Amino acid sequence: MENNRKHRSFFQSLLLGLMMSMLVVSISGCDEDDGPDVVNAPSATDKTPKYIFFFIGDGMASPQVNLTEAALADPNFRLVNGAITLGALNLQHFPIAGMATTHAEDRYITGSAAAATALATGHKTSIGTISKNAAHTLDLKTMAEMAKEKGMKVGIVSSVSIDHATPACFYAHENTRKNYYEIASQMDDSGFDYFGGGYAKGNLSNGVPAYDIETQMANAGYAIVNTLAQLKGVQPGDKCWAYTDYDGSAALYYEIDRMGTDHVSLAQFTQEGIRLLDNPDGFFMMVEGGKVDWACHANDAVSATHDMVAFDDAIGIALDFYNQHPDETLIVVTGDHECGGLSLGYAFTGYGSAFSLLKHQEISYQEYSEIVDGWKGGGKTFEEALDDVKDRFGLGDTTKDPAFALTANDSTRLETAFNDSMNGGFDRNDEEVFLKYGPYYDPFTVTVTHILNEKAGISWTSYYHTGVPVPVYAIGAGANSFSGSYDNTDVAKKIIAAGELN
Ligand SMILES: [Zn+2]
Repeated sequence: MENNRKHRSFFQSLLLGLMMSMLVVSISGCDEDDGPDVVNAPSATDKTPKYIFFFIGDGMASPQVNLTEAALADPNFRLVNGAITLGALNLQHFPIAGMATTHAEDRYITGSAAAATALATGHKTSIGTISKNAAHTLDLKTMAEMAKEKGMKVGIVSSVSIDHATPACFYAHENTRKNYYEIASQMDDSGFDYFGGGYAKGNLSNGVPAYDIETQMANAGYAIVNTLAQLKGVQPGDKCWAYTDYDGSAALYYEIDRMGTDHVSLAQFTQEGIRLLDNPDGFFMMVEGGKVDWACHANDAVSATHDMVAFDDAIGIALDFYNQHPDETLIVVTGDHECGGLSLGYAFTGYGSAFSLLKHQEISYQEYSEIVDGWKGGGKTFEEALDDVKDRFGLGDTTKDPAFALTANDSTRLETAFNDSMNGGFDRNDEEVFLKYGPYYDPFTVTVTHILNEKAGISWTSYYHTGVPVPVYAIGAGANSFSGSYDNTDVAKKIIAAGELN
């Protein structure tokens, strides 16, 4: 009897909840002049979230998510550099999922600036524009600016430079993403409380003195820190710009190269951000996993996968916080666009997959390109180069896996690419050459990752973004409104509505 009553009351409340949410949908539909508004239908029982996390995987669509899960299915995948194995992705456990289109105002296949403008403001714009309209006559207010005006604290975290397109679209307004210095100069104007991750690329270019943005930030009262110990020493409530060791592009190192070092991780930047931002008026934090995109541009599936794990680790930190404040926290995860035309399947392997091969790659394409560059002038013969590839990628080493055996076609491709890397003289404008090496990648390195990926049953159709939709994952207060199919501008509208930011 007791059990029956419990069941009955459960179904009664389910029915009541369903009726109430239908009522909300129909009321909000009546309010609109331009047709029913299916964008914002928060569940009647949802509180307004006091803590909002917005995670953006740059270059992340379903193939990147599922490839990472497939790679992690091999328990040795993350043991390459001595790191622990993590298992399935946190984001796949979110109860609500949706699908979003990504096109820009002036191009079907979007770029990170137009996509991030859509995700930050709810408005389409033109390629390259940072949170302004396509005509560049209007600044578009961002959800981070709205949150700040509402009295919440605001944090912006990215694994690429803090003035790169995605983070920039939350605090800056510029006609072009290439104005790195002008973008970075707007960090202090925003009054945001925490910037974490990569350095400012604007301080590395334009002939501007290298201390300029830092002076500007210090003068505006930001603590500037570079190590995890220093970051942990910053007091909650103090404004902070935290950046760590960075690569030539002012970004964090690829996760595959960072693992096992003491460079601050994306998860640590997120964790410390929560500590600094947590306050009675709540906070908004955007966290970007930026180098999934860069690795996919380069057609390096393993580096992309490790950066996906680093991104998902940061999501795990937010989930820990959610578990402490489940009624008051909203976490939304999406990608800005797919990159590389990544496909889980390859013509020559047919229906076969061999994801377990991926664990043998120990280094990013970027670091390997630098090594290969060092061989120019006779540093290595082709045979020695193949031995090096066996060590660092497994490719060609049948003792590691019989599937690593090189076919005659593989060997020809590798030898041609090796000679092109050593001697130059090839023409990237030639169609066949371009399809092999892309717009600027090292011929030998990109051929190694292509062949390794193909043997695993993975292929690429592009060195650029593609137009496939991106998944949206949500959990917490207001999460229900994120189910369904919609546009990337709607992701912003839903967050703004759920958080009552406007
Ligand atoms: Zn990109």
